[in-house]
Amino acid sequence: MVSQVSELMSTVVDNDYCIGCGICASFKNSPISMRIDENGKYIPYIKPEELNELSDPVIDVCPFSENNNVEDVIGQEVFGQQLDITYDKYSGYHLQAFAGYVLEEPYRKKGSSGGMGNWIAAKLLENNLVDGIIHVKPTEDPLFKYDVSNDVNELLKGSKSKYYPIELSEVLNFVRNNKGRYAIIGIPCYIKGVRLLEKQDNILNERVKYHIGLVCGHLKSEMFAKSIGWQLDVKPQSLKAIDFRKKLPDRPANHYGVEVMGDVEGKESKVSSPTRDLYTTNWGYGFFKYNACEFCDDILAETADITVGDAWLPEYSQDSLGTNVIVVRNSELKSLLEQYNGESIHLEKISSDKVYDSQAGGFRHRRDGLSYRLYLKDKENKWRPKKRVEPNNNLSRKRKLTYEHRSKLSMESFRGYRYAIEQGEFKYFIQYMEPFIKEYKKVIKPSLPKRAASKILREIRRIIK
Ligand SMILES: Cc1cc2nc3c(=O)[nH]c(=O)nc-3n(C[C@H](O)[C@H](O)[C@H](O)COP(=O)(O)OP(=O)(O)OC[C@H]3O[C@@H](n4cnc5c(N)ncnc54)[C@H](O)[C@@H]3O)c2cc1C
Repeated sequence: MVSQVSELMSTVVDNDYCIGCGICASFKNSPISMRIDENGKYIPYIKPEELNELSDPVIDVCPFSENNNVEDVIGQEVFGQQLDITYDKYSGYHLQAFAGYVLEEPYRKKGSSGGMGNWIAAKLLENNLVDGIIHVKPTEDPLFKYDVSNDVNELLKGSKSKYYPIELSEVLNFVRNNKGRYAIIGIPCYIKGVRLLEKQDNILNERVKYHIGLVCGHLKSEMFAKSIGWQLDVKPQSLKAIDFRKKLPDRPANHYGVEVMGDVEGKESKVSSPTRDLYTTNWGYGFFKYNACEFCDDILAETADITVGDAWLPEYSQDSLGTNVIVVRNSELKSLLEQYNGESIHLEKISSDKVYDSQAGGFRHRRDGLSYRLYLKDKENKWRPKKRVEPNNNLSRKRKLTYEHRSKLSMESFRGYRYAIEQGEFKYFIQYMEPFIKEYKKVIKPSLPKRAASKILREIRRIIK
C-alpha cells in the first residue's frame, strides 16, 4: 500500500504543484517538515525514520491534491445555507461586496490598501469574538513568519502584504497546544488548506472561528524580496527587512513603492524606490512565481468568511492611501461591517461584476490561461491537480503564446537569479532574462491594424482637445 505521504510527494511535490503552505506538516506528529529549497520556496520533506504506512491523510488536506473538494463545494458547505447568499463564478458564495477603507487611525496609513484586513482582525479582538489573530509578521531569518497576535498593538506590527514564502505548520501546532478562539488571515489556497484540515482535526475546527482571505494574484519565492534589495544595493545575504507596499503620496495607489533595510557598503541603511523603476516587480512577468499559482483558479479566497483586496479600479486607484475591495460571506461579519460603517470605516456597496473588474487581468490568466495550461498538461499525459476550469485549446494563437511565454518567464527567472548569484552581480539576472522578455514583448505587441486604430484615436482626441 502506498502511504498518503508517498502519494503526496510523487504527485503534488515532485510535479512542482506545492505552494509550501505546510498544511501537510500540520498534523500532530506528521512525518513531514518544511524547508526552503534552492529556489527560495518552502517545500515539504520527509523525515524517513518517521514515515509509516498508516500516516496522516495528507492528500485530503493538501489544497493542490486530486482528492479534496474544490472551492465551490467547500463554499456551498460552509456558506450555502444562508438565506440571502448568492453565487458568482468569480466571487464564489457571498452576501455582499464593497469598496471602502478604514477611517479610524492608523489602519489605512499602516495597511497595504485601505487597511480593512487588520481593522477586521482588530474588531474581532476588541469585541471579544476571538483571543488571537493568526497572521504574518516580520522576523529576522526568514524575514516573515506566521505568528499569533493577542492585542491590537501586536497585530499592527504585522500590517501590510508579504509577497514572501510563509508556512503554517508551526503556528497551527501552537493553536493546537494553546486553548483559545482564533481568526486566521491568509491567501486563498492557505485558507482552503485550513478548511480541509479542520475537517480532519477537531481541535483546530473548534478553535479557528474566522477565516479572513486576501485576494491573490500569485505568491513569490524569497528571491523576489532579495532581488528587490539587490537592485537597491543591499546584497541578498544582507537584507534585514522589506516593506513591499510603501505608499507614495500624490501618486495613484497602484504606483506604490518598496523599502528595504540592510547593509549598504558597510552601513545599516533604509532605501526605497517606486516599484515601477525596478526590474523584477512587474507582476505581469510573474518572476519568482510558484508554479502552483499557475494551477490555481481561486483569486478571491472563496472559502474565507470575508476577503479583502485592492480595489484596482480607475475610480478608486487615484487615491494614494488605497481602497479595499471586500467580499463578505459570513452574516456575523457582514453585521460587524454595517455596525461600524460611516463611523470607523467607509463602505460603498459594489456588484460582483465590479469585483471581477478590479482583478480582471488576474481572472483572465487564472481561468482562460489555466484552461490552456491544463490542456497542455493533459496532452502530455502528465499529472496535474483537479480544477474547476476545464482544459481548453480553443484560444487565439496570440493568447496561447502569451500564456506559454509567461510560464517561461516565471520558470527562467529562478535560473536567472541563481546565475546572477553565481556571478555575484544583479546585472547578470537582467542579462539572462532580456532575451525571454524580448520574445514575450513581441508576442503581446498589438497587431498593426490595432496600433493604427489607436494612433488614429489618439489623433482625434488631440484635435478635439
Ligand atoms: C501573495 C499576495 C498576493 C496578493 N495579490 C493580490 C492581487 O493580485 N490583487 C489584489 O487586489 N490584492 C492582492 N493581495 C492583497 C493585497 O496585497 C492586500 O493584502 C489586501 O488588499 C489587504 O490590504 P489591507 O490594507 O486591508 O491590509 P492590512 O490592514 O495591511 O492587513 C493585512 C493583513 O494580512 C496579513 N498578511 C499579509 N501578507 C500575508 C500573507 N502572505 N499571508 C497571510 N497573511 C498575510 C498581515 O499580517 C495583516 O494582518 C495579495 C496579497 C498577498 C499576500
